Amino acid sequence: MPDFVNRRQAIRGGLVVTAGLLLAACQRQRAGGWKPMSADQIEGPPRRELSGGERPTRVPSDSGFTLGGVIPRREWASAGPNLSLINPMNGVRRITVHHDGMPPVSLRTKADVAHRLELIRSVHTGRSDDNGRNWADIGYHYIVDPQGRVWEGRPVRYQGAHVKQNNENNLGILVLGNFDEQRPTSEAINALDAFLADRMRAYRVPVTRVFTHQEINPTACPGFNLQSYMVATRSGRGYLARA
Ligand SMILES: [Zn+2]
Repeated sequence: MPDFVNRRQAIRGGLVVTAGLLLAACQRQRAGGWKPMSADQIEGPPRRELSGGERPTRVPSDSGFTLGGVIPRREWASAGPNLSLINPMNGVRRITVHHDGMPPVSLRTKADVAHRLELIRSVHTGRSDDNGRNWADIGYHYIVDPQGRVWEGRPVRYQGAHVKQNNENNLGILVLGNFDEQRPTSEAINALDAFLADRMRAYRVPVTRVFTHQEINPTACPGFNLQSYMVATRSGRGYLARA
């Protein structure tokens, strides 16, 4: 299909430049230690409740999430996973949160986000001699965008590729943005909390098994501001601590 071919070509044009930025940020080691912000230093997320007239969207595949529904991968991915390079998940027993760490861009519309996801998938599945990672598919299972939408990434029946040597039984969730340079939007935070709580219940994952990338491997991911939020939401009177 010409549309598809043109889009692929456009993406490939930016692939080499973006690939380095994309993965360097996630693997970069932070020079100093980070200090967690207290919950009230962080943009306060008013809890979003479904109002009477608002109907939960039908959710696809294996997610029971109903806050705003999960957008299925067919709405953004131009190809399925390469099954010759992929392992089965065999159950979820932990969850890891990431940021993309790329230079921030405006991601407002679904088309903006779909393009960004396809770019990330192209880098993750690209040939290694083209600065790609030669992975089976996008590395993450779900993606939260700045408007609070949740997108399906790699199908959960497959093991992800998001924490080096620690992908077994590990559900990977990417929040789009660079949280060393930005604060997550309240929409993204609300969606992340609600989605994490939902998946914790679904897979019986306790809050002590919800990690950020830097808590497993030396990396700046998920950025200072999201790391601080994750510390707050999992402790004390934080949302996830009570989920
Ligand atoms: Zn990461």
